[in-house]
Amino acid sequence: MEKTAIILIAITLFFLVIIVGLLTVLVYRLIKNPPSATSPAPTSSDGSAPHPDISRTEFHPGIMERLKDLESIKPSRSELFCPNHRDEPGEVTCGICDKLFCKVCIKPFKTMHFCKEHMPLVMRHDWEEIVTVKTSTQNPEEGVELFEKKKILFSEKNLPTYVETHYKINIDQDYIETYLVVFAIKEEAEAVRSYLL
Ligand SMILES: [Zn+2]
Ligand SMILES: [Zn+2]
Repeated sequence: MEKTAIILIAITLFFLVIIVGLLTVLVYRLIKNPPSATSPAPTSSDGSAPHPDISRTEFHPGIMERLKDLESIKPSRSELFCPNHRDEPGEVTCGICDKLFCKVCIKPFKTMHFCKEHMPLVMRHDWEEIVTVKTSTQNPEEGVELFEKKKILFSEKNLPTYVETHYKINIDQDYIETYLVVFAIKEEAEAVRSYLL
């Protein structure tokens, strides 16, 4: 009985020594070659990493360009408030300068609204119809393009215009047609027409 106990203890000790030995070898190997080094990231045939690490590298120049564009479109805080009353949120857009004004600073005229600076401009001049662009819910691109050109005319070429919007409901085909009519000061009509057409 005593002999069997000694043999059992001897066998247990023997296995313990083997297990400790194996563990020591394993730990030694891990320290010498960390797992990241023993299993390198997969590389494509030309040796470069298949996916660039976007957290560390810059985006493609084209994407950076697009991000910059988006940043410039995003309205700043000042553009959302009335330019004359810094605490009042802008509510209505001026038909000439496209800035947002509070209700005190903008007045309706015809079907549109104009700020205090541009209302006299609208009243003082004869305005001429330049072009009518038909857009629809299925085809809004032309309208977007027209408003972009209108902004350039005002900010870069100093040619004020306003755009009247007329709606027509097409009952047969169940959609709303929008007619955008661009007006310019009579004396500047030719310059505006040549830019828009
Ligand atoms: Zn204005
Ligand atoms: Zn205001």
